[in-house]
Amino acid sequence: MRSPVPRFRDVERQVASLQPVQCDPPCHDRQNTMWFIRDACGIVCAIITWLLVMFAEFVVLFVMLLPTKNLTYSLVNGTIFNSLAFLALASHFRAMCTDPGAVPKGNATKEYIESLQLKPGQVVYKCPKCCSIKPDRAHHCSVCKRCIRKMDHHCPWVNNCVGENNQKYFVLFTMYIALISLHALIMVVFHFLYCFEDDWMKCSTFSPPATVILLILLCFEGLLFLIFTSVMFGTQVHSICTDETGIEKLKGEIPRWEKIPCWEGMKEAFGGPLSLAWLSPFTDLSCRTDDSTSIPEAPQGEIIEEDVIEIPLRH
Ligand SMILES: [Zn+2]
Ligand SMILES: [Zn+2]
Repeated sequence: MRSPVPRFRDVERQVASLQPVQCDPPCHDRQNTMWFIRDACGIVCAIITWLLVMFAEFVVLFVMLLPTKNLTYSLVNGTIFNSLAFLALASHFRAMCTDPGAVPKGNATKEYIESLQLKPGQVVYKCPKCCSIKPDRAHHCSVCKRCIRKMDHHCPWVNNCVGENNQKYFVLFTMYIALISLHALIMVVFHFLYCFEDDWMKCSTFSPPATVILLILLCFEGLLFLIFTSVMFGTQVHSICTDETGIEKLKGEIPRWEKIPCWEGMKEAFGGPLSLAWLSPFTDLSCRTDDSTSIPEAPQGEIIEEDVIEIPLRH
């Protein structure tokens, strides 16, 4: 167990000395520019995600649905699959290009802390990496290089953090991917049954070996993604319901926040009471645009592993 004494070196007791050299003035870069993380690994993973959906789209359309003689079957399944795939990609795009809840960079300045009008003895946390005053439940992401409010995890597949502002889009993305995977698997089973009864040459425009290889690849992709995204969807809904983010669970943090009931958590994450808008990646979470910083309450004198700024008691 580490002694608390060395950690005390991080404590800045004088508000007057609070002008870290490396801190730039607060920037409000989210207002005019689109949020996009320039991380090579994340960009590659996001492109792979889109390519995999395109591959599934290709096999479903050109190997299974178009060569089928049953027009109703093709139309119904084609419409369902394409609509779900479109919603999945739209959710992916929104999850990737929505600010997950980044705390303004470099706002740990003397002026900003004074403007918070903190009471003597009150404690705020400063992130040493991005020089921001950390609101309660925010964590620093080393990929985004920012502190993210209610950060759940950084997902390379959407090349972004999952936080309080984009969790809905991430949940929808996992749900729609699970649904198209399930739908594709069902269609593959039907196609195999149909082709075994019929002549292989007639049930696909591709050669029989190419058809089988493409269908097996789709099966493999569908199964893998069905399992992965269903687990992810379940985990996300569970974390919304229990009001505990993935990172808080991982770190075993003792809740200092007041937990909200499951249904309230769902309404907060999805931006309002239950409606069809919950399923739409196009509706905005309009209630999440303020830059306010909630100050965590911590017992006076408690040493926490981050930089702690304690407002000195007046004499
Ligand atoms: Zn930070
Ligand atoms: Zn991140």
